[in-house]
Amino acid sequence: MTDDSKAVANRKTRDEKKEAYLRVIYDRYTVQFRAAGNQDAPSVARKAHIAMDEVLERDRAKNPGSENVRCGKGCSHCCREAVEIWPHEAALLVGIARETGMALDTARLERQSRYTVDTWRQQPAADKACTFLGDDGACMVYESRPNACRKLLVVTDPALCDAEHRKPDSVGRWFSWEAELMESAALETFGTAVMPKALLAALNDKG
Ligand code: SF4
Repeated sequence: MTDDSKAVANRKTRDEKKEAYLRVIYDRYTVQFRAAGNQDAPSVARKAHIAMDEVLERDRAKNPGSENVRCGKGCSHCCREAVEIWPHEAALLVGIARETGMALDTARLERQSRYTVDTWRQQPAADKACTFLGDDGACMVYESRPNACRKLLVVTDPALCDAEHRKPDSVGRWFSWEAELMESAALETFGTAVMPKALLAALNDKG
């Protein structure tokens, strides 16, 4: 075997091991979410949010480079993009809006829900913002924000996140494999929808 073919074989073995390792993590979260499926929806979401924060904190602590994450309060370009959530998260958010007397702009949610992840940017600029984005650029449900928002962290200049003016490819992300797999397992287990659609469904849920 030549050195080149040895290197290719070693790389293939490493990739297979990594894939198997990631599959184990994904399957573990899928089992956990399936087992939680019949529990109270908001509490399932809350527990998943706590778990996500723990994974992110642990992985950021051991991953050099994560100290360069630039996301912060008032930086909200990503809150004008399509965000996919799962029904339990929508139930939690609608519950919080009701508890706190936060009025949800259902007319805007209806308009937004006509767009998909792929077409989101085609809607008028005034409609793109998340319904929970405050006038000060801060998230009004920060403690209960979906896991899709928690795990989205960038290490490049926040100005580059403005998709209206910059190429999205220029944005550098820091990410945790486990966080990505946890969220994929939740979306696969519970189903996914863009946030406005999921919120409208939760608002209409009389169950
Ligand atoms: S829930 Fe909060 S963090 Fe997530 S998109 Fe909306 S405003 Fe932004």
